[in-house]
Amino acid sequence: MTEPRANALVITGGTVHTPDGPRQVDVHVAGGVITSVGNDPAPVGASTVDATGMYVLPGAIDVHVHSRDPGFPQKEDFATLTAAAAAGGVTTVIDMPNTVPAVDAAGVLESKAALARGKARVDYGLWGLVRSTTTPDELEGLAAAGAIGFKAYLGYAFSLGHKQVQYSLKLEDPDLEAPPDYGTLARLAPDIARLGLPLVIHAEDPAILRAFARPLESYADLLGSRPAEAEAVAIAAAAEIAGASGVRLHVAHLSSAPGLAAAQEAIRAGAPLSLETCPHYLWLCDEDFGRVGTAMKIFPPVRGARDRDALVDGLRKGTITIVATDHAPHTDEEKAAAFADAPAGSPGVQTLYISSLELASRMGDVWLAPRWVSEAPAALAGLQGSKGTIAPGYDADLVIVDPTQPTRVRPEIMRSKQRHSALDGMEFGFTVREVYLRGSLVAGGRRGRVAGRLVRPARR
Ligand SMILES: [Zn+2]
Repeated sequence: MTEPRANALVITGGTVHTPDGPRQVDVHVAGGVITSVGNDPAPVGASTVDATGMYVLPGAIDVHVHSRDPGFPQKEDFATLTAAAAAGGVTTVIDMPNTVPAVDAAGVLESKAALARGKARVDYGLWGLVRSTTTPDELEGLAAAGAIGFKAYLGYAFSLGHKQVQYSLKLEDPDLEAPPDYGTLARLAPDIARLGLPLVIHAEDPAILRAFARPLESYADLLGSRPAEAEAVAIAAAAEIAGASGVRLHVAHLSSAPGLAAAQEAIRAGAPLSLETCPHYLWLCDEDFGRVGTAMKIFPPVRGARDRDALVDGLRKGTITIVATDHAPHTDEEKAAAFADAPAGSPGVQTLYISSLELASRMGDVWLAPRWVSEAPAALAGLQGSKGTIAPGYDADLVIVDPTQPTRVRPEIMRSKQRHSALDGMEFGFTVREVYLRGSLVAGGRRGRVAGRLVRPARR
């Protein structure tokens, strides 16, 4: 007879996203791990969750979030970020390194991980920062401390006094260290390749941005100041460096048709390149600005309908493999300022899964969505052995979604500190019902006692 097992769980009756496609099977969980996917009898003492009529999906891994923690507690922190993540079916967030102090060394990463430990409701990983002065030893230290990989913000300077990354085209300020450039990437790429970790770039060519800089009085100014060529040029140059060094290069927040074309060209030529885009680039275009307002002020900008359609097509064809959010909240007050003064960024983590399911369903295959938000992100982040798949041995990060109940994005349901998002007012035909992190409920009912923990990549 089977022994009753503590915290054993069976999710029954749902349609499960398995590696072999959608299946009507039960998912058994014990000790936070999936133990079987099939039609085995439930172990004695297991609690049962009836998911009849529901989808059972792997928890999403959002590889691009900004917790603002530490640094900007009025905008967000790990508690509110991960509450929003859990509510939306995101069970792992990978946080960008431009918190304060910026995550440019092992000690900073360790303190940030410790700070998140007491607050996070879902698991979290941390990106390390590439500065123009970063040394191979610093990369090594960050990797040993658990960095998922490294982020280089082309054109973003580093404030020596404030230990902060900031967008600046004026570099005469002696406090600002020169931003990382293609030289930095070429110098460090072989070391990053040796560590087996990915290099993520914010791909906008600074020389082009400098040439087109202007006061941002209107949405047209924003588009004019950050033309798509800047993205295409940066991708082509970085891909050349990736090809030469073998480093796995990942393009964050791809926003344009020319950027996609440059990436396609590089991939055809054999560059080890992966692409991510975000829901705001897939659902919006410049014509929506009148309706959405400053919530749509985002870098790089949401561009024309042609760009949006090209990105949707790139996702459909599998050239773009990852949807992440670039979740970048501010306060609603800051975002309510005049266009020129409103800071750039929008929250997004909570609507990642439902918007992706909607898009995939409109493409005719709803089961593409878990690949974009869970499987492919797990591979990028080096978590492919433990997360992103519903199969025995994997973490029981599971999301139960009702495919018959639509969700309307509105401030009242948002758990981030910034309640107004770029997708405000949109309706998606799915509702996240229950979310399990390593077998414990983190959203949709009485929460279990589980706390988020640091995830570390398997180094390749
Ligand atoms: Zn970002």
